[in-house]
Amino acid sequence: MIFDGHADIWTDVAIRRQKGISDVFKKVHLERFNKGEINGGIFVIWADPPYNNEPQKRVFEIIEHTAIEIMENRDIFKIIKKTKDFDTAISSGRMPIIIGIEGLSALGSNFNLLNLLYMFGVRHASLTWNEENKFATGVKGSSNRGLTEYGIQAVKKIEDLGIILDVSHLNEKSFWDVYRYSNKPFIASHSNCRSLCDVPRNLTDKQLKAIAEKGGLVGVNAFREFVHVEEDKQDIEHLADHIDHMVEVMGIDCVGFGFDFFDYLGDETKNSFAGSGNIGVKGIEDTTKAKNIIRIMEKRGYSKDDIEKISYKNFYRIINQILK
Ligand SMILES: [Zn+2]
Repeated sequence: MIFDGHADIWTDVAIRRQKGISDVFKKVHLERFNKGEINGGIFVIWADPPYNNEPQKRVFEIIEHTAIEIMENRDIFKIIKKTKDFDTAISSGRMPIIIGIEGLSALGSNFNLLNLLYMFGVRHASLTWNEENKFATGVKGSSNRGLTEYGIQAVKKIEDLGIILDVSHLNEKSFWDVYRYSNKPFIASHSNCRSLCDVPRNLTDKQLKAIAEKGGLVGVNAFREFVHVEEDKQDIEHLADHIDHMVEVMGIDCVGFGFDFFDYLGDETKNSFAGSGNIGVKGIEDTTKAKNIIRIMEKRGYSKDDIEKISYKNFYRIINQILK
């Protein structure tokens, strides 16, 4: 089983449903997931550019379409809301899916709306995407701005509710604020190692160690710009190097997958944050190729047990630890 810690599926669902397509997951994604052997994951609600100018409006549009989609897919999805739901998903042959939200800009200044999101089923949240907002500062924000007072309260609220807190996209100052104010494990669902690819979205060894110390995990990201700065080294072997490095720095229990495949999104959306051309690295270009990373890990001598931990068991542990 492969659990993918990060996919923009709900945003894609909304984009397509707004064009009149129904049953998006079964029509567009299911076969691709099966081919890649991905059978569970965190699907996020992400306010896509240019609609992120009005994040609240966009997020509620996405939620509206997500709700219908979930109803249509009750036979294949098990939405994970509490401890044990993951087991129920497996025993009933359905995909364990966590509803996540990428950035809290939609809440405006009213973080009580988190209760509403929670009641909808949201069990994963990051404070920002790349932007600065009322809560925290993303990688594109000012480097000397971290969490706000509001953001500190949001961390507590997220922990109290039993939502998984995600630090991917935060700038360094915000990261260290989360480290300081959090009392539970947190994750970086889709980030790589700064020491192998020096971009702001990746994590320094010090940050990796801090996540491990808190008992969290990091999901390895297959987006080419986060794998290597040199284009000819943006391939699956160099992606596997990130796994090796994380395992070395954090230990086998703190590494997972957060592939961040978004090839299925329209060009207009993709071009707003990624350069043109390929998205996934060579050898693991999109969802259908996900299983290839398992072959590489086998070749590198990872045991069956270790591969299972990285593929889903570490996420399983975090989910059962954080959810109530
Ligand atoms: Zn992201």
